[in-house]
Amino acid sequence: MIKKLNNKLSIPFIIILLFFSYGCETSQSSKSNISLKYLGAAGWEILSDTSTVLIDPYLSRIKLVGNSTTKNISNSAAARDWGKDQRPKFYRDDEYEPDTLVINEHISSADYIFVHHTHFDHAADVPYIAKKTGAKVIGTESLSNLLRAHGVPNNQIITVKGGEDYVFDNFSVKVLPSLHSALRKKLYFNSESIQKGIKVPLKIKQYVEGNSLMYYFRFKNHKVLTMGSMNFIGDAIEGLEPNILLAGSANSRKEIYNYTERLLSLTNYPDIIIPTHWDDFRVTYDASQEAAIKSKASPFIEDVKNILPNAEIILPKHLEPMVFESK
Ligand SMILES: [Zn+2]
Repeated sequence: MIKKLNNKLSIPFIIILLFFSYGCETSQSSKSNISLKYLGAAGWEILSDTSTVLIDPYLSRIKLVGNSTTKNISNSAAARDWGKDQRPKFYRDDEYEPDTLVINEHISSADYIFVHHTHFDHAADVPYIAKKTGAKVIGTESLSNLLRAHGVPNNQIITVKGGEDYVFDNFSVKVLPSLHSALRKKLYFNSESIQKGIKVPLKIKQYVEGNSLMYYFRFKNHKVLTMGSMNFIGDAIEGLEPNILLAGSANSRKEIYNYTERLLSLTNYPDIIIPTHWDDFRVTYDASQEAAIKSKASPFIEDVKNILPNAEIILPKHLEPMVFESK
Protein backbone atom coordinates (compact mmCIF):
# COMPACT_ATOMS: atom_id res chain seq x y z
CA MET A 1 0.00 0.00 0.00
CA ILE A 2 2.77 2.45 0.99
CA LYS A 3 4.77 1.45 -2.06
CA LYS A 4 1.76 2.09 -4.25
CA LEU A 5 1.25 5.51 -2.69
CA ASN A 6 4.89 6.47 -3.03
CA ASN A 7 4.80 5.75 -6.74
CA LYS A 8 1.99 8.20 -7.14
CA LEU A 9 3.45 11.03 -5.01
CA SER A 10 5.15 13.89 -6.80
CA ILE A 11 8.44 15.21 -5.45
CA PRO A 12 7.03 18.62 -4.36
CA PHE A 13 4.28 16.80 -2.49
CA ILE A 14 6.83 14.62 -0.68
CA ILE A 15 8.74 17.77 0.33
CA ILE A 16 5.52 19.26 1.75
CA LEU A 17 4.83 16.01 3.63
CA LEU A 18 8.34 16.03 5.10
CA PHE A 19 7.91 19.63 6.15
CA PHE A 20 4.65 18.85 7.92
CA SER A 21 5.94 15.75 9.65
CA TYR A 22 8.97 17.72 10.87
CA GLY A 23 6.64 20.51 12.04
CA CYS A 24 4.45 18.05 14.00
CA GLU A 25 7.46 16.50 15.67
CA THR A 26 8.75 19.90 16.73
CA SER A 27 5.43 20.95 18.23
CA GLN A 28 4.93 17.62 20.03
CA SER A 29 8.30 17.80 21.70
CA SER A 30 7.81 21.46 22.61
CA LYS A 31 8.32 21.98 26.30
CA SER A 32 4.93 23.56 26.78
CA ASN A 33 2.84 20.60 25.65
CA ILE A 34 1.84 17.46 27.44
CA SER A 35 0.48 14.30 25.94
CA LEU A 36 -1.94 11.96 27.70
CA LYS A 37 -2.62 8.38 26.67
CA TYR A 38 -5.36 6.25 28.26
CA LEU A 39 -4.11 2.75 29.12
CA GLY A 40 -7.50 1.55 30.33
CA ALA A 41 -8.87 1.08 33.90
CA ALA A 42 -7.31 4.02 35.82
CA GLY A 43 -4.11 3.86 33.78
CA TRP A 44 -2.43 6.73 31.97
CA GLU A 45 0.81 7.68 30.32
CA ILE A 46 1.70 11.37 30.56
CA LEU A 47 4.56 12.70 28.46
CA SER A 48 5.83 16.03 29.65
CA ASP A 49 9.03 17.88 28.81
CA THR A 50 11.48 15.02 28.91
CA SER A 51 9.66 12.79 31.42
CA THR A 52 7.43 9.81 30.88
CA VAL A 53 5.05 9.36 33.78
CA LEU A 54 2.82 6.31 34.14
CA ILE A 55 -0.20 6.24 36.42
CA ASP A 56 -1.76 2.95 37.55
CA PRO A 57 -0.46 1.18 34.43
CA TYR A 58 -2.55 -1.96 34.12
CA LEU A 59 -2.29 -3.41 30.64
CA SER A 60 -2.76 -7.15 31.22
CA ARG A 61 -6.55 -6.80 31.36
CA ILE A 62 -6.87 -10.41 32.58
CA LYS A 63 -10.11 -12.25 31.99
CA LEU A 64 -11.24 -12.17 35.62
CA VAL A 65 -14.51 -13.91 36.38
CA GLY A 66 -16.47 -12.19 39.10
CA ASN A 67 -15.19 -9.85 41.70
CA SER A 68 -11.66 -9.58 43.08
CA THR A 69 -12.80 -8.16 46.42
CA THR A 70 -15.53 -10.63 47.48
CA LYS A 71 -15.84 -14.39 47.48
CA ASN A 72 -19.19 -14.33 45.77
CA ILE A 73 -19.24 -14.78 42.04
CA SER A 74 -22.55 -13.64 40.68
CA ASN A 75 -24.38 -15.78 38.15
CA SER A 76 -24.18 -12.95 35.66
CA ALA A 77 -20.38 -12.81 36.03
CA ALA A 78 -19.97 -16.57 35.67
CA ALA A 79 -22.29 -16.69 32.65
CA ARG A 80 -20.72 -13.72 30.95
CA ASP A 81 -20.32 -13.94 27.19
CA TRP A 82 -16.61 -13.38 26.50
CA GLY A 83 -17.09 -13.32 22.75
CA LYS A 84 -13.97 -14.33 20.82
CA ASP A 85 -11.69 -13.94 23.84
CA GLN A 86 -9.91 -17.30 24.06
CA ARG A 87 -7.56 -16.31 26.90
CA PRO A 88 -7.68 -18.35 30.13
CA LYS A 89 -10.16 -17.29 32.80
CA PHE A 90 -8.91 -16.04 36.15
CA TYR A 91 -10.64 -16.33 39.53
CA ARG A 92 -9.76 -14.36 42.64
CA ASP A 93 -7.99 -17.40 44.14
CA ASP A 94 -5.67 -17.74 41.14
CA GLU A 95 -2.13 -16.40 41.09
CA TYR A 96 -1.72 -13.21 39.11
CA GLU A 97 0.46 -13.26 36.04
CA PRO A 98 1.17 -10.12 34.00
CA ASP A 99 0.63 -10.34 30.25
CA THR A 100 4.17 -9.33 29.37
CA LEU A 101 3.54 -9.50 25.62
CA VAL A 102 0.89 -6.81 25.84
CA ILE A 103 2.92 -4.72 28.27
CA ASN A 104 6.03 -4.89 26.07
CA GLU A 105 3.99 -3.92 23.05
CA HIS A 106 2.87 -0.65 24.62
CA ILE A 107 5.41 0.31 27.30
CA SER A 108 9.01 0.84 26.31
CA SER A 109 10.24 3.36 28.85
CA ALA A 110 9.13 5.28 31.92
CA ASP A 111 10.79 7.64 34.38
CA TYR A 112 8.13 7.58 37.09
CA ILE A 113 5.17 5.40 38.00
CA PHE A 114 2.50 6.71 40.37
CA VAL A 115 -0.01 4.29 41.88
CA HIS A 116 -3.33 5.23 43.53
CA HIS A 117 -3.86 1.97 45.46
CA THR A 118 -2.84 -1.69 45.34
CA HIS A 119 -5.87 -3.49 43.92
CA PHE A 120 -4.79 -5.67 40.99
CA ASP A 121 -6.24 -3.38 38.33
CA HIS A 122 -3.93 -0.58 39.51
CA ALA A 123 -0.80 -2.26 40.86
CA ALA A 124 -0.42 -5.80 39.56
CA ASP A 125 1.58 -4.90 36.43
CA VAL A 126 3.72 -2.34 38.25
CA PRO A 127 6.51 -4.65 39.53
CA TYR A 128 7.16 -5.94 36.00
CA ILE A 129 7.05 -2.44 34.47
CA ALA A 130 9.28 -1.03 37.23
CA LYS A 131 11.92 -3.72 36.63
CA LYS A 132 11.67 -3.35 32.85
CA THR A 133 11.99 0.45 32.79
CA GLY A 134 13.96 1.24 35.96
CA ALA A 135 11.34 3.91 36.76
CA LYS A 136 11.00 5.38 40.20
CA VAL A 137 7.71 4.19 41.70
CA ILE A 138 5.62 6.32 44.04
CA GLY A 139 2.83 4.88 46.17
CA THR A 140 1.73 3.59 49.55
CA GLU A 141 3.63 1.31 51.91
CA SER A 142 1.43 -1.48 50.58
CA LEU A 143 2.84 -0.82 47.10
CA SER A 144 6.41 -0.66 48.41
CA ASN A 145 5.97 -4.09 50.02
CA LEU A 146 4.64 -5.44 46.72
CA LEU A 147 7.61 -4.03 44.83
CA ARG A 148 10.24 -5.32 47.29
CA ALA A 149 8.65 -8.77 47.23
CA HIS A 150 9.21 -8.76 43.46
CA GLY A 151 12.83 -7.67 43.79
CA VAL A 152 12.45 -4.05 42.66
CA PRO A 153 15.54 -2.22 44.02
CA ASN A 154 15.03 0.07 47.01
CA ASN A 155 16.38 3.11 45.17
CA GLN A 156 13.40 2.93 42.81
CA ILE A 157 10.81 2.92 45.61
CA ILE A 158 9.37 6.15 47.04
CA THR A 159 6.83 5.52 49.79
CA VAL A 160 4.19 8.16 50.54
CA LYS A 161 1.11 8.33 52.75
CA GLY A 162 -0.70 11.45 51.49
CA GLY A 163 0.11 15.06 52.31
CA GLU A 164 3.58 15.08 50.73
CA ASP A 165 4.37 17.75 48.14
CA TYR A 166 7.41 16.55 46.21
CA VAL A 167 9.58 18.07 43.50
CA PHE A 168 10.80 15.83 40.69
CA ASP A 169 12.98 16.74 37.66
CA ASN A 170 10.67 19.10 35.88
CA PHE A 171 7.36 18.75 37.66
CA SER A 172 6.01 18.54 41.18
CA VAL A 173 3.31 16.39 42.75
CA LYS A 174 1.06 16.94 45.70
CA VAL A 175 0.07 13.55 47.14
CA LEU A 176 -3.53 13.66 48.35
CA PRO A 177 -5.11 11.32 50.88
CA SER A 178 -8.20 9.80 49.34
CA LEU A 179 -10.90 7.15 49.65
CA HIS A 180 -11.69 4.05 47.66
CA SER A 181 -14.89 3.75 45.61
CA ALA A 182 -17.90 2.79 47.68
CA LEU A 183 -18.23 -0.52 45.84
CA ARG A 184 -21.20 -2.86 46.19
CA LYS A 185 -23.58 -0.13 47.37
CA LYS A 186 -21.16 1.01 50.07
CA LEU A 187 -20.64 -2.47 51.57
CA TYR A 188 -17.00 -2.43 50.44
CA PHE A 189 -14.55 -1.66 53.21
CA ASN A 190 -11.00 -2.88 53.48
CA SER A 191 -8.23 -1.64 55.75
CA GLU A 192 -5.71 -4.32 54.74
CA SER A 193 -2.32 -3.65 53.17
CA ILE A 194 0.06 -5.89 51.29
CA GLN A 195 2.41 -6.99 54.05
CA LYS A 196 6.19 -6.80 54.26
CA GLY A 197 7.87 -10.06 53.25
CA ILE A 198 4.86 -11.42 51.37
CA LYS A 199 5.68 -14.32 49.03
CA VAL A 200 5.21 -13.90 45.30
CA PRO A 201 3.44 -14.55 43.02
CA LEU A 202 0.42 -13.14 44.80
CA LYS A 203 -3.09 -14.42 44.28
CA ILE A 204 -5.44 -11.88 42.75
CA LYS A 205 -7.29 -11.58 46.04
CA GLN A 206 -4.03 -10.66 47.82
CA TYR A 207 -3.88 -7.35 45.92
CA VAL A 208 -5.70 -5.54 48.71
CA GLU A 209 -6.36 -1.82 48.66
CA GLY A 210 -3.61 -0.62 51.00
CA ASN A 211 -5.12 2.89 51.31
CA SER A 212 -6.08 5.20 48.48
CA LEU A 213 -4.37 8.30 47.13
CA MET A 214 -4.89 10.93 44.47
CA TYR A 215 -2.15 12.96 42.74
CA TYR A 216 -1.98 16.60 41.74
CA PHE A 217 0.70 17.05 39.08
CA ARG A 218 2.12 20.46 38.30
CA PHE A 219 3.84 20.30 34.94
CA LYS A 220 5.32 23.40 33.34
CA ASN A 221 2.07 24.67 31.86
CA HIS A 222 -0.46 22.09 32.95
CA LYS A 223 -1.87 20.95 36.23
CA VAL A 224 -3.38 17.49 36.19
CA LEU A 225 -5.45 15.97 38.99
CA THR A 226 -5.66 12.17 38.82
CA MET A 227 -8.15 9.77 40.40
CA GLY A 228 -8.01 6.00 40.83
CA SER A 229 -11.46 5.70 42.38
CA MET A 230 -14.94 7.16 42.30
CA ASN A 231 -14.42 8.92 45.62
CA PHE A 232 -12.36 11.70 47.19
CA ILE A 233 -11.81 13.61 50.42
CA GLY A 234 -13.29 17.08 49.92
CA ASP A 235 -10.85 18.82 52.26
CA ALA A 236 -7.87 17.26 50.44
CA ILE A 237 -8.82 18.53 46.99
CA GLU A 238 -10.47 21.83 47.91
CA GLY A 239 -8.78 24.82 46.31
CA LEU A 240 -6.73 22.85 43.77
CA GLU A 241 -6.89 24.34 40.30
CA PRO A 242 -6.21 21.58 37.77
CA ASN A 243 -6.76 22.51 34.15
CA ILE A 244 -7.06 18.79 33.38
CA LEU A 245 -9.09 16.49 35.62
CA LEU A 246 -8.95 12.72 35.14
CA ALA A 247 -12.30 12.08 36.77
CA GLY A 248 -13.35 8.69 38.12
CA SER A 249 -16.58 8.01 36.29
CA ALA A 250 -17.78 4.45 36.96
CA ASN A 251 -21.16 3.90 38.55
CA SER A 252 -20.04 3.65 42.17
CA ARG A 253 -19.83 7.46 41.97
CA LYS A 254 -23.60 7.38 42.48
CA GLU A 255 -23.08 6.32 46.11
CA ILE A 256 -21.40 9.66 46.83
CA TYR A 257 -23.33 12.77 47.76
CA ASN A 258 -23.40 15.24 44.85
CA TYR A 259 -20.31 13.54 43.41
CA THR A 260 -19.86 15.39 40.14
CA GLU A 261 -20.88 18.84 41.34
CA ARG A 262 -18.67 18.66 44.45
CA LEU A 263 -15.73 17.24 42.50
CA LEU A 264 -15.90 20.06 39.95
CA SER A 265 -16.60 22.92 42.35
CA LEU A 266 -13.93 21.88 44.87
CA THR A 267 -11.38 21.84 42.05
CA ASN A 268 -12.45 25.22 40.65
CA TYR A 269 -14.15 23.87 37.54
CA PRO A 270 -11.30 22.46 35.42
CA ASP A 271 -11.15 23.43 31.72
CA ILE A 272 -10.71 19.88 30.51
CA ILE A 273 -12.44 16.88 32.05
CA ILE A 274 -11.52 13.36 30.96
CA PRO A 275 -13.46 10.39 32.35
CA THR A 276 -11.26 7.61 33.71
CA HIS A 277 -11.81 4.10 35.15
CA TRP A 278 -15.02 3.66 33.13
CA ASP A 279 -13.92 0.92 30.73
CA ASP A 280 -14.44 -2.83 30.90
CA PHE A 281 -10.86 -3.78 31.81
CA ARG A 282 -11.43 -7.55 31.69
CA VAL A 283 -11.40 -7.60 27.91
CA THR A 284 -8.57 -6.98 25.44
CA TYR A 285 -7.87 -3.57 23.96
CA ASP A 286 -9.52 -4.48 20.67
CA ALA A 287 -12.86 -5.49 22.25
CA SER A 288 -15.84 -3.16 22.02
CA GLN A 289 -16.37 -0.72 24.89
CA GLU A 290 -19.82 0.38 23.71
CA ALA A 291 -21.62 -1.07 26.74
CA ALA A 292 -19.23 0.60 29.20
CA ILE A 293 -19.49 3.91 27.37
CA LYS A 294 -23.27 3.73 27.44
CA SER A 295 -23.64 2.70 31.08
CA LYS A 296 -20.75 4.60 32.69
CA ALA A 297 -18.88 7.23 30.66
CA SER A 298 -21.80 8.83 28.81
CA PRO A 299 -24.02 9.39 31.88
CA PHE A 300 -21.05 10.95 33.68
CA ILE A 301 -20.34 13.20 30.69
CA GLU A 302 -24.00 14.29 30.75
CA ASP A 303 -23.67 15.14 34.46
CA VAL A 304 -20.61 17.28 33.73
CA LYS A 305 -22.31 19.02 30.80
CA ASN A 306 -25.25 19.97 32.99
CA ILE A 307 -22.93 21.62 35.48
CA LEU A 308 -20.33 22.99 33.06
CA PRO A 309 -21.87 23.48 29.59
CA ASN A 310 -18.67 25.02 28.22
CA ALA A 311 -16.15 22.54 29.58
CA GLU A 312 -14.09 20.47 27.19
CA ILE A 313 -15.02 16.88 27.97
CA ILE A 314 -13.03 14.19 26.21
CA LEU A 315 -13.93 10.51 26.14
CA PRO A 316 -10.50 8.91 25.77
CA LYS A 317 -9.82 6.03 23.41
CA HIS A 318 -7.45 3.32 24.54
CA LEU A 319 -3.82 3.95 23.60
CA GLU A 320 -4.48 7.08 21.51
CA PRO A 321 -2.28 9.99 22.60
CA MET A 322 -3.97 13.36 23.13
CA VAL A 323 -1.73 16.42 22.97
CA PHE A 324 -2.61 19.46 25.06
CA GLU A 325 -0.91 22.67 24.15
CA SER A 326 -0.25 25.30 26.75
CA LYS A 327 -2.38 28.41 26.69
ZN1 LIG B 1 -9.76 -0.56 43.77
